Amino acid sequence: MHKYMNLKKFSYLSVLALLAATTSCKRLSTAGADNGEETNPFFEASKLPLQAPDFAKIKDSDYQPALEEGMKQQQAEINKIAENTEAPTFENTLVALEKSGQLLTRVNNVFSLVSSANTNPTLQKVQEEEAPKLAANTDAIFLNTKLFKRVQTIYQKRNELKLDAESKRLVEYYEQKFELAGANLSESDKETLKKYNQEEAGLSAKFVNMVLAANKAGALLISDKAELAGLSDAEIQAAADNAKNTKQDGKWLISLQNTTQQPLLQSLSKRATRQKLFEASYNRAEKGDANDTRATIARIAELHALEAKLMGFRNYADWKLHDQMAQTPEAVEKFLAQLIPAATSKAKAEAADIQALIDQQKGGFKLEPWDWNYYAEQVRKAKYNLDENEIKPYFELDKVLKDGVFYAANQLYGLTFKERKDLPVYQEDVRVFDVFDKDSTQLGIFYCDYFKRDNKNGGAWMNNIVGQSKLLNQKPVIYNVCNFTKPAPGKPALISADDAKTMFHEFGHGLHGLFANQQYPTLASPNTARDYVEFPSQFNEHWMMDPKIFAHFAVHYQTGAPMPQALVDKIKKAGTFNQGYALTEALGGDAIDMAWNTLGADNAKQDVDKFEAAALAKAGLNLSQVPPRYRSSYFLHIWANGYAAGYYAYAWTEMLDDDAYSWFEENGGLTRANGQRFRDMILSKGNTENYGDMFKAFRGHEPDIKSMLKSRGLVK
Ligand SMILES: [Zn+2]
Repeated sequence: MHKYMNLKKFSYLSVLALLAATTSCKRLSTAGADNGEETNPFFEASKLPLQAPDFAKIKDSDYQPALEEGMKQQQAEINKIAENTEAPTFENTLVALEKSGQLLTRVNNVFSLVSSANTNPTLQKVQEEEAPKLAANTDAIFLNTKLFKRVQTIYQKRNELKLDAESKRLVEYYEQKFELAGANLSESDKETLKKYNQEEAGLSAKFVNMVLAANKAGALLISDKAELAGLSDAEIQAAADNAKNTKQDGKWLISLQNTTQQPLLQSLSKRATRQKLFEASYNRAEKGDANDTRATIARIAELHALEAKLMGFRNYADWKLHDQMAQTPEAVEKFLAQLIPAATSKAKAEAADIQALIDQQKGGFKLEPWDWNYYAEQVRKAKYNLDENEIKPYFELDKVLKDGVFYAANQLYGLTFKERKDLPVYQEDVRVFDVFDKDSTQLGIFYCDYFKRDNKNGGAWMNNIVGQSKLLNQKPVIYNVCNFTKPAPGKPALISADDAKTMFHEFGHGLHGLFANQQYPTLASPNTARDYVEFPSQFNEHWMMDPKIFAHFAVHYQTGAPMPQALVDKIKKAGTFNQGYALTEALGGDAIDMAWNTLGADNAKQDVDKFEAAALAKAGLNLSQVPPRYRSSYFLHIWANGYAAGYYAYAWTEMLDDDAYSWFEENGGLTRANGQRFRDMILSKGNTENYGDMFKAFRGHEPDIKSMLKSRGLVK
């Protein structure tokens, strides 16, 4: 039950820049526009359906000028609001804020997509150059004293203004947003904070590109085919193609995934190869070369502590959790403490099972992390007689998508989907679907980009290209990006059960975005707290194993035969297998994240490796055979993707999604009525109510950890 990141880029642009594009953008005068040269395609809202981006017209050279112009335009709009001589009103201040920055949002949403999913040196350079400017642009809004005064005036009168509930929420949102951004600081402290923010943004962008380079450079090159023993023919072929693509014909190249553990470790039967692959992963960003990230992250951690001190908080986590569902580092630590003993004792039992198998085979060695998945796979086969290669023929990507992911959305919410080939895409593997609501009106557009490329960031994520807003007259245009192995030409894409679950997960974010029903773009789903935003996505994973859904998509790609019931039962039984390991490695990530982000400014300078080891030991998570899911040196979530002091959110939202799913189980399961209730009370609400209240209204009680422990097989 691996969890996948949602790379929502809160960090660079913050909320204003998450506002989506509009129809009312006036044409800008641009040099050369009149003498036949092409105008920058971002300067106007796209004329394509729902403002889908016109990738046929967008060139790499268009992003930087559009970002620059977008920032300039937004600053002019912000100044106009701040300098308005009329008394502040909801309309002339907050609605005006919601309408600002549309060009910037339009270009940044597309830039964020292509620079993460299909990057190149030109885009990377733009990213590094613009990131500090974008951070400064956000600061110039939220550290604008006059603007904050207007927001405060409205906030103080909010109960007398006869605002509807969503508008009142917007007032409260902005008041808190400004405060947490440092609007109350003295002018000199504001200047210091701006400097910190800009330095951090630059370092984050640099970190991302270093990790991408480290992943590429760390790929394991094999010269002797014998070392690949245990891999399937298809996997060997993929490694050969991979080598060929990097001009290393006749060899085999195993690419690195983001996580510490690598998928092929479960099949490689030569222990030496396993160790090499594991170490390539584990040390990828700590080689003392140009891709060594340690100095960069040590400085980001220091900046976090300095920023928090300036803001009057004990540490970065204290500051960043203030507007989350959990609210304090103590609440997070208390939550994690409920999980750590159950997870580690299960992991230790699993390790003993594996060691017994190694000994039984007269292996003559002690279990190491690079052995874990190889033997776990054997234990799984022995215990459950389950072989991934037996499953894959029943998980053909197109069927999983249309007859699984889409079908579940149809059964629960009445949605229908139609693929369209007329909209331009940024890469040939990208597919586009119209999404229709239960009454057949168009709800939005969905792009998916499922196959791994070496110019794509690792992991899987969702975001909006166009965000929903009634104020801006916009419907959602959303995308899912994943990293599944691309089949050889003409071969079907047979994916693993984990991959299928990732598709359900990312589409769960998609549903959150598609069902957004807000006036204001800032409050529209999925713009919610980090420890809430993964709730809809993880909730959607549950439907994969629903008997009706599963039977509908899991059919043999050649014969069309349903998966034999015995195999289905085995998958279900194996669902709780290895969960001690899985949860412990995730909790290792949580502990590292919380440790870095609860550092006080006085001791913020730390040696990365020593600090990481101490953090794991302190949390009781220093199991040598269960390394953290990500080490500090390649932990994108906490240094770049806006999940600093937020990695716990995956486990936290798992508590929410398992508990919410229990409600379905208690109330008749997969029905349109139940789906509608979930849509009405959770998915369509965005950030228009307190997160705890929304959950409680749906579930009938505060979130309870029991369902999660049970679904992980950690309690009976
Ligand atoms: Zn997610």
